Amino acid sequence: MAVPDTSTICANLTLADVDDDDNSMQFQNVNASDAVVDTSYYAIGRLVTGKSLLVLRRLQSDEDPETVELFHCDFWIQIHNLPVGFRLDSVVSTICSFLGMLVESDDRNFDGCLRTFYRVWVTVDISKPLKKQMKLKKNDGAWAFVNFRYERLPTFCFLCGIIGHGDKLCPKTL
Ligand SMILES: [Zn+2]
Repeated sequence: MAVPDTSTICANLTLADVDDDDNSMQFQNVNASDAVVDTSYYAIGRLVTGKSLLVLRRLQSDEDPETVELFHCDFWIQIHNLPVGFRLDSVVSTICSFLGMLVESDDRNFDGCLRTFYRVWVTVDISKPLKKQMKLKKNDGAWAFVNFRYERLPTFCFLCGIIGHGDKLCPKTL
């Protein structure tokens, strides 16, 4: 079967209701004109916030859509205050491992220009609090803190660090 382009896939998406307790939904790519429906194009999704975060994942042929966990989402993250001497690709890779799983590093990170921050595209586990900073030990034994800024972050709680609710609705304060 020929691989359709993204616009064809999106044009053929349908939405199926799942248990509504956690705003779950399931998208299915069903093209009626295909004699055989290729299940590799099925996607499953979860609406995390009412304000712009929909986690989607392609369903593998051996996965049960009822048990697939939708806790991983990709974000561009800025790394600020990286000390001189730590501005290396290997250090940025180590920091990415702390944040999640590296998808891509910004091509401009190490292009020879002086940077105030570095950018990485990382797959983050959003069921856990977002990481705000990381401690690095310098050669002289002193500690340095690098800070993280997430780009295009949806509704987020500054109290517990979880995406999906604001400070006023935090379960920790209710
Ligand atoms: Zn909270």
